[in-house]
Amino acid sequence: MQSKTAHFKENAKKALGDAQLQRVLDKFSTGFPVKRAQAAARLPEFEDLRDAARDIRAHVLDNLDVYLERFETKVIETGGMVHWARGGSDACSIIGDICKSVDAKTVTKSKSMIGEEIAINDYLEKNGVDPVETDLGEYIIQLRDEPPSHIIVPAVHLSKEQVAETFREKHTDLPADRVLDNPRILLDEARGKLREKFLSADVGLSGANMLVAETGSIALVTNEGNADLSVGLPRVHIVLASIEKVVPCMEDAWTLLRVLARSATGQDLSVYTSFVTGPKRSDDLDGPEEFHVVLLDNGRSSMLGSEFHDMLRCIKCGSCINHCPVYAKIGGHAYGWVYPGPMGSVLSPALLGDVSANDLPNASTLCGKCETVCPVRIPLPEMLRQWRNRQFEANQMPTRQRLGLRAWAWLARRPRTYRLVMEIGTGLLTKLAPRNGRFKNLPFAKGWTSKRDLPAPQGKTFMAQWKQRSNGGSS
Ligand code: SF4
Repeated sequence: MQSKTAHFKENAKKALGDAQLQRVLDKFSTGFPVKRAQAAARLPEFEDLRDAARDIRAHVLDNLDVYLERFETKVIETGGMVHWARGGSDACSIIGDICKSVDAKTVTKSKSMIGEEIAINDYLEKNGVDPVETDLGEYIIQLRDEPPSHIIVPAVHLSKEQVAETFREKHTDLPADRVLDNPRILLDEARGKLREKFLSADVGLSGANMLVAETGSIALVTNEGNADLSVGLPRVHIVLASIEKVVPCMEDAWTLLRVLARSATGQDLSVYTSFVTGPKRSDDLDGPEEFHVVLLDNGRSSMLGSEFHDMLRCIKCGSCINHCPVYAKIGGHAYGWVYPGPMGSVLSPALLGDVSANDLPNASTLCGKCETVCPVRIPLPEMLRQWRNRQFEANQMPTRQRLGLRAWAWLARRPRTYRLVMEIGTGLLTKLAPRNGRFKNLPFAKGWTSKRDLPAPQGKTFMAQWKQRSNGGSS
């Protein structure tokens, strides 16, 4: 997927002015967080499971080479093939070659953010292969030629009316005056269309929620069962997965699964959890004849051992996105690439590897909610700060911002001067404050006052009030 991260500010402004998007986001931001809280409350050992999940992922990253080689050995032992891809174009060529080798015309796909990362659909189309998204959300955005706006609910930015409009426009073989006024009808229509594709596909392309080194299996988690139909019916199954997805054994996979769905959607477990091991065996009734796993690096190995090492613990549950107040206002497209929200603001600059994503780590209030809800306890706010530090050190910030931060850092290291400056500043602003106590316009805080009023200080600084209270006075 082509990166538009350099346009973050314009995209965010546009999103804030989009009334339809704001209505959808308002609903979204209350749904999953409540469900996750309820799911966590139902399971007394949830916090212990999060610790265990964090430790499993950390252990894997410290021994990644060992587990990847073990996984490869097991895949080969069970009749499959493993292909190593350094970058996106390598992965695309490998997948393209496999499709060519079986003269594939249609590929059914289950949702894969790695597939979005390397723009596999564009590559297949250019090479005469028709890729068909089978996750309902992905199917809808494929019809609309849009990128996903969330890693687990890719069409969350759309209303059901917009989906109905798209179906009417694209499913031209169906009666134009049919009723499409509720989600069930829309689902049935998409299901009918996809069924034809499942039955005629030559290749099934899936991602993998996990790669199990002990058995060479891949874990696939969906709520629609589309992954199972995508990969079980065609003659060839290709798995596209990034290297950090490996886990040591089945027991570890289950520990991660127990926190994955609870963190993502508040379900105890996703509706379909499947493990696929190798191609069809001689006594199997069905299944693919060929099983290929494409292991993609695409910048991840250079994150190992860096300040962003822990980001690779991510199990792509989307919980940090669901709880992010910035995402809740601007949605996923504003971020300009595959991964939105806090996880994207850390991951995208690392994977894109240039300054185009510099705005993303700054698009955070650092409220810390993302770390609080992350099932593998990734210190996202700390890593967002690390990106900001890097930008500061590399002189990649606007001069005003840089000078402001320098001045702030100088003051913050001198508590007495800091207090004095704050008292003078507070006193000045209190005197200048309008009668209603709210500034509508301040030259040094234009970004704030262009959208809302800035409350004037209420007399004394926090420190001064604290001191007064500690001395027994009232503030
Ligand atoms: S960073 Fe944590 S909360 Fe966010 S998607 Fe990854 S695992 Fe989930």
